Amino acid sequence: MSLSILEQIEDLAGFRSAVREWLTRVVPENWLDQLAKANDSEYETFQRWWMSERNKVGMGTPHWPVQYGGAGLSLSHQIIVAEELARANAPPSRMYTVSLNHVPATLFRWGSTEQKRRYLPGVANGDVWCQGFSEPNAGSDLASLKTRAIRDGDVYVVNGQKIWSSYSRYADFCILLTRTDTTVRKQKGITYFIMDMRSPGVEVRPIRQANNHAEFGEIFLSNVRIPIENRIDEENNGWTVAQTTLSAERGVLAFERAERLRYTFERILREAIANSAVWLRNDSLRREFMVLFGELQGARHLLRQLLEEADRDDKNVSITSALVKLITTEHRQRFGDLFARIQGIDGQQFFPCADDSSEYSMYEYLSSFGGTIAGGTNDIMRNIIAERGLGLPR
Ligand SMILES: Cc1cc2nc3c(=O)[nH]c(=O)nc-3n(C[C@H](O)[C@H](O)[C@H](O)COP(=O)(O)OP(=O)(O)OC[C@H]3O[C@@H](n4cnc5c(N)ncnc54)[C@H](O)[C@@H]3O)c2cc1C
Repeated sequence: MSLSILEQIEDLAGFRSAVREWLTRVVPENWLDQLAKANDSEYETFQRWWMSERNKVGMGTPHWPVQYGGAGLSLSHQIIVAEELARANAPPSRMYTVSLNHVPATLFRWGSTEQKRRYLPGVANGDVWCQGFSEPNAGSDLASLKTRAIRDGDVYVVNGQKIWSSYSRYADFCILLTRTDTTVRKQKGITYFIMDMRSPGVEVRPIRQANNHAEFGEIFLSNVRIPIENRIDEENNGWTVAQTTLSAERGVLAFERAERLRYTFERILREAIANSAVWLRNDSLRREFMVLFGELQGARHLLRQLLEEADRDDKNVSITSALVKLITTEHRQRFGDLFARIQGIDGQQFFPCADDSSEYSMYEYLSSFGGTIAGGTNDIMRNIIAERGLGLPR
């Protein structure tokens, strides 16, 4: 690992300059076009390459403890890294969403020492993880899940089906929820596992979305044998563990996305002025643009608050994460709608793999709908805000 960036951590301004200088050197100029034309395997290769570049200089998992493959840096450093990735329009590491958020949150809190030693450095070296929670009849009501795990000596034998599992086709490992007891209250009979996606009996079938990207897939499990050492915490305590995973869904990646959007707004405006775009003469579109830009500034502040709460490891129930989810995903949808109207025919292009193509408004617009469903739907977020935040009756 090069020490040039990590040698400058004492001085935040120096650290920022070092990250900026590194990004100037490594971000390929035309990566967005490259990715837009890539097939699935080229997309995977690109994402893995980019994560390995980040890891070479400690910028993959900068805030993790050193003994687990991180650089041991503070939240302030992490914010700088996210800001600079956005500023440089560096490729987002979307394929690593679960690896960088859900997995560390879960393993740091609930993993055994052995599990932490075995899996966390792998994540820091680029292992791709997926999340096997949702099932065809268990989404918002996740506790109804039916995928069955039955103990057989030192292994559990798992049968069932998962769905909407993001990046499962590329994944090396899966965090998996299963039912181990059918005789108790549904939340009580769930067990949490780490599953090797190359185990015999695991089959992934991609699901192609409206934006033409097959980001997520179904996972079929037939007599998959998971060793007991891959169980996280006790048998039947999976529901409690899953709450930690779910609360980690919105963090630095959401922050980075909002920072990126800020630059997208600025770019759209710059280009519109340079080209004397017709929409600039339309008062209603201009007003809409400025309202959305203003709302984005509010969301950016809320995201900072969310990161600070997470950093303090605040055990008080907070609704910030639900608010962030609600506000940012609905904002993205309205932005996509406006962007499509502004960009017109130029934005109507489709690409198989462009996973952060905010250059292309129709792709951005179609992608924005998934955000209001993923990670708990916005209706569920409204319930959380109403009940936990405002104390309204159920
Ligand atoms: C882009 C994307 C990525 C995803 N990635 C993953 C992943 O990696 N791993 C994974 O396990 N899952 C993933 N999911 C699945 C996601 O978690 C579920 O889609 C989500 O929890 C909703 O479940 P459902 O689709 O079964 O809808 P349902 O739960 O059937 O909901 C249907 C409708 O009813 C509403 N509704 C349901 N219950 C209530 C209630 N109590 N109050 C008010 N309204 C309610 C919902 O808001 C929704 O409008 C992903 C989904 C998307 C869109």
